[in-house]
Amino acid sequence: MKVDILVVGAGPSGLAAGIASARGGRGTVWVLERNTESGRKFLFSGSGQCNVTHGGQIADFLNHYGNIKKARFVKPALLSFDNNDLIHFFEQHGVPFLKREDGKIFPKSLKSKDLLNILVAELKEQGGILQTETVVKNVAKINTGFLLTTNRGEFCAKKLILATGGQSFPVTGSQGDGFRFAVQLGHQLVEPKPALTPVIVRDYPFADLSGISFWSAKIEIRRHAQCLKVGQGDVLLTHRGLSGPAILDLSRDMKSGDKLLTAFIPPEKFVSDIFTGKKTLKNVLQQLGLAERFGVRILEMLNIAPNQPVAETNRETRKRLELVLTGYSFVIESLGGWSEAMVTSGGVVLEEVNRQTMESRIVPGLYFCGELLDIDGDTGGYNIQFALSSGFMAGNAVQNCL
Ligand SMILES: Cc1cc2nc3c(=O)[nH]c(=O)nc-3n(C[C@H](O)[C@H](O)[C@H](O)COP(=O)(O)OP(=O)(O)OC[C@H]3O[C@@H](n4cnc5c(N)ncnc54)[C@H](O)[C@@H]3O)c2cc1C
Repeated sequence: MKVDILVVGAGPSGLAAGIASARGGRGTVWVLERNTESGRKFLFSGSGQCNVTHGGQIADFLNHYGNIKKARFVKPALLSFDNNDLIHFFEQHGVPFLKREDGKIFPKSLKSKDLLNILVAELKEQGGILQTETVVKNVAKINTGFLLTTNRGEFCAKKLILATGGQSFPVTGSQGDGFRFAVQLGHQLVEPKPALTPVIVRDYPFADLSGISFWSAKIEIRRHAQCLKVGQGDVLLTHRGLSGPAILDLSRDMKSGDKLLTAFIPPEKFVSDIFTGKKTLKNVLQQLGLAERFGVRILEMLNIAPNQPVAETNRETRKRLELVLTGYSFVIESLGGWSEAMVTSGGVVLEEVNRQTMESRIVPGLYFCGELLDIDGDTGGYNIQFALSSGFMAGNAVQNCL
């Protein structure tokens, strides 16, 4: 089979790349996908509700990809197809959106499927072919372009866009194949690692309290008694440790053995005024926003009676409580693995890719987009936004040079 443009992977980045490269009908475009349907990971996103992007200025997005080098790389793609363009694209196809208080943007229906259907329909509308159940096994550079070996025979193309995603949640089809293809074609990788992962805690005492969450907890990562990074946001107790946006976002900087100093409540809330009246200590902790079962557990751990009236507590008791609630020390046993990580950090080295076009600087005619690149965003819609922005950028660039 000979075509002009081949896209490998029908996740959000590959579908966007397919749409953009098929627009204008300058060449034949095929998108190859191993699964029976496209966008399996996209369907899982935001627990099936799809937090597709974030509100606010696109300039604010740049702080959500880890460091300045990454921010510099993602900037042209995000500016060329920003969060407003994304919303406009789907709204034009009849999907309204809602913005949550925390800035996260979802389709009003809270169904990722509604957005995926539009991407697939638009690819067809532009004349692109979606070929499912096609597993790309090998990729080689040849004189006329690229030769792909698949379970359905060989495919040749003048231009190739790799959009195979990362390696996390391998059940979705993203199993790291693109990393192997990139290396075969001469590219280097930053070692792929699970990112946006929950944390497994050593000697964890809250397994039975799994499901309890803390609004705006403060987390400090400490390694060898030094503070590495501080973050704030929702934290969730799981049956093995911690999760929730604040933990997931900080996980790219954590490793086994690190301490997580956790303020379950902001220290400024812990003032002596709250220890007045006819309340019990248990009531005070509830008043501070802590779940009753958690408050009772903390008091029991400190050998303090939960029903002790506040009027009978001394300074020392209050100080012990304050220290635990504003600086609880968890030790990381390990980070969640590939099956739990929401994204992959690492991937195709950014210096080897033109950030204005997503074209390889090593192999002309080869393009990358989405999570296959050494880009991973925070929770909040930053990953899908980049997947779509970089996919459209790669597709536009390919189409322009046919
Ligand atoms: C549980 C979960 C929830 C998430 N929630 C959100 C969220 O709410 N918001 C957000 O921004 N991000 C979220 N993410 C991350 C986001 O889904 C990904 O960053 C995004 O899907 C990456 O898009 P992509 O197109 O680069 O890769 P993918 O979506 O991984 O797509 C790659 C495609 O390539 C195909 N493929 C791979 N290898 C081959 C091959 N050899 N041959 C043929 N096909 C191949 C795969 O089957 C797959 O369909 C979530 C991730 C997970 C796991």
